[in-house]
Amino acid sequence: MSLAELQALERDHVLPTYARFPVEFVRGEGAWLYDDEGHPYLDFLSGISVTSVGHCHPHVVRAVTQQAARLTHTTNMFYTEPAMRLAQRLSQGSLGGKVFFTNSGAEANEAAIKLARRARRGGEIVVVEGAFHGRTYGALSATPQESKQAPFAPLVPGFVVVPKDPDALRAAVSERTAAVFLEPVQGETGVWPLPEELLRAAREACDAAGAALIYDEIQCGVGRTGTLWAYQASGVVPDALTSAKALGGGFPIGALITGPRLADVLQPGDHGSTFAGGPVVAAAAGAALDVIDDPALLRRVRELGERLAAGVAQLPGVREVRARGLMVGADLDGAPELARRALLDQRLVVNATGPDTLRLLPPLIVGEAEVDEALVRLRAALSA
Ligand SMILES: *Cc1c(COP(=O)(O)O)cnc(C)c1O
Repeated sequence: MSLAELQALERDHVLPTYARFPVEFVRGEGAWLYDDEGHPYLDFLSGISVTSVGHCHPHVVRAVTQQAARLTHTTNMFYTEPAMRLAQRLSQGSLGGKVFFTNSGAEANEAAIKLARRARRGGEIVVVEGAFHGRTYGALSATPQESKQAPFAPLVPGFVVVPKDPDALRAAVSERTAAVFLEPVQGETGVWPLPEELLRAAREACDAAGAALIYDEIQCGVGRTGTLWAYQASGVVPDALTSAKALGGGFPIGALITGPRLADVLQPGDHGSTFAGGPVVAAAAGAALDVIDDPALLRRVRELGERLAAGVAQLPGVREVRARGLMVGADLDGAPELARRALLDQRLVVNATGPDTLRLLPPLIVGEAEVDEALVRLRAALSA
């Protein structure tokens, strides 16, 4: 089907919630996407930090096809090996508590919000300015952005917003607080690593008040910043974290992972999901972790991230670069127009998180030559 035919179908039959670019992708391999005419595009967005193992990684494809041919779904009333093995791996490789599987990032945060309120009845949830936690009602209520929230009022009550300031955070946390939610690196609002001082203040305030510190690692986890989990780069350990995006190697799975203290708060009947943790997506996640949970790959993420950030900083018009591993944001005027030109003229897939920030999220298996090629294409898009 031609692009024009797809656009006609969208116009007539699809709710107009997405501003799509006029490009149809039909195939992907590694860091490359191919359109309907066979043109290759260098993918430095990875489906928003989802295809971190690259497109159609053979190890993930094998795990998924083998599992799909054996058993696809049973509901969570029964046991399947991929889910139990994945839970063990996620728990042992991070906070050491227990795991609840979901189908998406927003759902992982919903589970975390329910868990926090179950631990402290009626408690407030403290979030910081610039946060993005998802689009469902609980997650949206934790996302203090006027344009996203206002049309959908009334929201879920009991959310408190504070500036990214240690003193303001400390002042907002009390015996009334159920949890503080933080993204160690804020993604959707322009790649903002939160200062270590703020993370430390959150940890201390939560300890003093008996509240839970919950990290949203949906975008910055699973190797993106050069450690398997973003919290592992700092001295601050949360009580629970949420994951999704890259967790499934391109397949939809999310998880709430707790530490020991919160492992037994949710009880039978408290929460559930029909699809979540199904054998196919759990097998995909296991295979994706085989690829990413590798010290050599994570060291490459840190090295190539530095190379990419240094290259981006030299581009004309770039005022500031913020980077953690292969999560890179560059401030410059006209970022959305630059992203559009990079895509349509240079066949480089990148995006803008707002009017002033270009965001680069290449797959973690990217090579040095591809990093350099992306910089060449960005420079060309900038000088067009
Ligand atoms: C993408 C994202 C979400 C929402 O995940 P969905 O799978 O789109 O529901 C939540 N938090 C952060 C930090 C994200 O980047």
